[in-house]
Amino acid sequence: MTSLDDIPVTQLKGVGSALAETLAKLSIHSVQDLLFHLPYRYEDRTRVVPMGSLRIGDIAVVEGEVMKTDLVMGRRRSLQVTLRDDSGFLVMRFFHFNAAQKNQLAEGASVRCFGEVRPGRAGYEFYHPEYQVSPPPMPAAGEATLTPVYPLTEGIQQPRVRGLCQQALGYLERFPIRDWLPPDLLTDYQLPGITEAVRLVHLPPAGSPVHLLVEGRHPAQQRLVMEELLAHQLSLLRVRQQIQARQALPLLPTGDLPERFLEQLPFKLTGAQKHVVQDIRQDLSQPVPMLRLVQGDVGSGKTVVAALAALQALGSGAQVALMAPTEILAEQHFRNFQDWLEPLGVTLAWLSGKVKGRARQEALAAVAEGRAQVAIGTHALFQDEVQFQRLALVIVDEQHRFGVHQRLALREKGVGGSLAPHQLIMTATPIPRTLAMSAYADLDTSVIDELPPGRKPIETIVLPDSRRDDIVERVRGACQTGRQAYWVCTLIEESEALQCQAAEVTAQELSKRLPELKIGLVHGRLKAQDKVDVMARFKSGELDLLVATTVIEVGVDVPNASLIIVENPERLGLAQLHQLRGRVGRGEQASFCVLMYHPPLSNNGKARLQALRDSQDGFFIAEKDLEIRGPGEVLGTRQTGLMQFRLADFERDKGWIEPVKEMAPGLMKQPKAVDALIRRWLGENIRYGEV
Ligand code: ADP
Ligand code: MG
Repeated sequence: MTSLDDIPVTQLKGVGSALAETLAKLSIHSVQDLLFHLPYRYEDRTRVVPMGSLRIGDIAVVEGEVMKTDLVMGRRRSLQVTLRDDSGFLVMRFFHFNAAQKNQLAEGASVRCFGEVRPGRAGYEFYHPEYQVSPPPMPAAGEATLTPVYPLTEGIQQPRVRGLCQQALGYLERFPIRDWLPPDLLTDYQLPGITEAVRLVHLPPAGSPVHLLVEGRHPAQQRLVMEELLAHQLSLLRVRQQIQARQALPLLPTGDLPERFLEQLPFKLTGAQKHVVQDIRQDLSQPVPMLRLVQGDVGSGKTVVAALAALQALGSGAQVALMAPTEILAEQHFRNFQDWLEPLGVTLAWLSGKVKGRARQEALAAVAEGRAQVAIGTHALFQDEVQFQRLALVIVDEQHRFGVHQRLALREKGVGGSLAPHQLIMTATPIPRTLAMSAYADLDTSVIDELPPGRKPIETIVLPDSRRDDIVERVRGACQTGRQAYWVCTLIEESEALQCQAAEVTAQELSKRLPELKIGLVHGRLKAQDKVDVMARFKSGELDLLVATTVIEVGVDVPNASLIIVENPERLGLAQLHQLRGRVGRGEQASFCVLMYHPPLSNNGKARLQALRDSQDGFFIAEKDLEIRGPGEVLGTRQTGLMQFRLADFERDKGWIEPVKEMAPGLMKQPKAVDALIRRWLGENIRYGEV
C-alpha cells in the first residue's frame, strides 16, 4: 500500500517544481513531511479586541471603519490607513501596495485586520497586517479556532504553508499515518493516536482548550512531543549500537605504567576518582569500543583520570589521542603529561592548528609511524592529514565546547580496518541529569562527585563597579602576600575583537595603578606562542596578576592563584561563571571570587549572581542555567542542531525524558520502527547511518 511518505508534494494542487524546491529547503519532500511540518505556535484570532485597549507588542485582531487613507511621502513612501472603532484608533501602514488595494481601503470601508502593535509616527500601527475588507461575521465564541503558525523559509509565506498543510490533511482519510508506538503505551499515558494528533495540531477543532494549545500542553501536542523526544533518543542509541557493533582493541590493564604513575603523584586519588578509573579500566579491557562520559565539577581532578586511561592503553602498545577545545588548555595538558609521563619513558606529540612547517611535519610523521604514543592537541588532531598508526583510545576533554557532530566524527580515526577506538569524553561543566539523559544517550556516564581533600570553599563577593578602587586594592594586597590573581574582562561574546581591546585597556590601567606588580595579558588574538609564554610565566609565579578574556574559562590550573575578579558577570551564563570561578580554589589557601557588575542589575540578574554566591555545587548551578537559558546554551550545541526540536521544549517537556528513556530500549528491538521514527523527526539533517 502506498504510504504518505511515498506521495511527493508535487501531487498537491498548486505545487509545481519551483514551490517544491522551496519546500525542500524546509526538508519537506512528501505529503507526510508536510504533515510533520508542525505549527510552533498559535495565534488567537478568535476575538476582536477594542482598539482602545491595545498595548505595544500585542498581537490582535481589530475591526473598524476606514476614516481616511493617505499616501505618505516620508523617507519611504507608504500607504497609511486610519481605522476607528468605538474605543479608539489604529493605523495600518503598507510600504508595498498597489492601486487596487488603495481603492479597496477607501473611506468608510469596514475592515478586520490582524497584526502586531508598534509605536508609529501616527500613533499605534500595524505594519503590513493581514486584513479583510467587509469581513464575514466572526464565528461564535464556541466555534472559533486558533490559527496555526508554521516555520517558514525564504520564498514562502504563512498563508501558503497553512493552505498546503490543510490540503495534506485531506489525505489522512485514505492514508492514515503509521503509528509506531505500542497501543498500551498510549493508553497508559492517555495520549491520542498519531493521525488524530497530527490532524488536531494543524486544525484545532472549535472548542479545543485554547490555553492548553497555546502552551503546547494539549494531549495531541504532548503525544507528538513525546514521539519527537523518543526519536532523538533512538537516534543516539542507534549511533551507540552502530559503534558497538564494531570491534575494538581490548586494552588490558597489564604493565606497571599506571602504578608507577600513581607512585610519583604528590597526592592520592579520591574515592570518586578511583571509582571512575575502575569504570574506565573495565570498559577498556573489552573488545567493544568504550563510550564513556566522565562528568566532574571544576577542579574534581579529571586530568589524572585521563592520564590513567592513557597509560592503560599504552600498556597494550596502542596510541592515544587527547583533544582539548582551546590552545591554552591543550598546551596545559601537554605540559602536565610531559611532567607526568615523560619520566615514565612515554613519547608525546604536540599538534595544534598553530603548529606549522617542520615542527608539524615532524609531529605528523611521529604519529603516523607510531613513535609518538600520545598525541595531544586541539581539534587539529582530527584533520584528515593526521594519520595514526595504532590509535585505540580517543580522549576528549571539556567536550561541551565541541559540537555533537565532532564527537560523532572522532571514531573515524580508529585503528585501521574494522577496529574502532575507545572513546572517553570529559565535560567541563556538570550537566543537569535530564539534559544528560537526552543529549548523551549514546554514552555511559561516570561522575566524579567529590573534590580533592583540603580544598577551602571559594568566597564569592558581588560588588558594583563603583567599588573598583577597593577591588584594585584587594588585588594589591593578595599579590603582596605572594599569591596570584586573575582579572577577567568580559564583553558580549560575539565581539572577540572588542573583548580583547577591553582586556588591553584594563591591563594598561592596572599596570599604572599597581606598578609594583608584574602583570601579564592573555587574550584570543595573541599569537599562539605568546599565549603559551604568558601562561607559563603566570604558572611559574613570575607574573602576579593575569589580565585575561574568557579564554581562561576552562581547565586552566594554577593552584597558587587565589583571587579572581570578573568584570560584567551579568553578561555571562551561570555555568560559565562557575567555570571561571573554578580557576581559583585549587590550592590550600582561602580563595575569593569578586563579581564586579555594572549597575543597574535586573531582578533576574540579581537572582543569578546570588545563586552563584550561595552555591558552589556545579550540578545545582547547571540546573539553574538550564532553567534560565535553555539546553542549547548549556550544551553549547546550538549551532549543531542536535537539541533543536520542532515541537518539544526542554523546560516544559522535561517530564517526558525519564519515560522516554525507559521506553527506548524496547523499541530498539524493532529496527523498522526506529528507522521510521528517526526519519520522521530528524529527516536527513543528521546522517547517523554513516558510521
Ligand atoms: P578538572 O576536573 O577541573 O579538570 P584538574 O584535573 O585540572 O581538574 O585538577 C585540579 C587540580 O587538582 C590539579 O592541580 C590537580 O593536580 C589536583 N588534583 C587532582 N586530583 C587530586 C587529588 N586526588 N588530590 C589532590 N589534588 C588533586
Ligand atoms: Mg580539566
